[in-house]
Amino acid sequence: MTTTADLVLHQPDWQKDAVCKDADPELFFPEPKSGHAAKALRICRNCPVKLDCGIWAIDTDQPAGVWGGMTANQRKRKTHELERLMAARRAA
Ligand code: SF4
Repeated sequence: MTTTADLVLHQPDWQKDAVCKDADPELFFPEPKSGHAAKALRICRNCPVKLDCGIWAIDTDQPAGVWGGMTANQRKRKTHELERLMAARRAA
């Protein structure tokens, strides 16, 4: 898992184009199950690096926060969907 120190020291290139770079970070890390991710998800909607951000969050197994226009639970569901599709493809 990537730590906050990793993020600060090794900031991925795409982060320079993130529309959230000046936003309140707390919007992107709401209390779990609070349902307060809507503001962050709206900010992500028009972000030019949404795909990079989402792939990075899944690749680095980010356990919390809104990344790539997805909550942690949405990322988990996407990961499971992809794993199911890949398993089906291997079995075919
Ligand atoms: S997709 Fe969302 S979290 Fe990712 S960089 Fe863009 S605004 Fe930030």
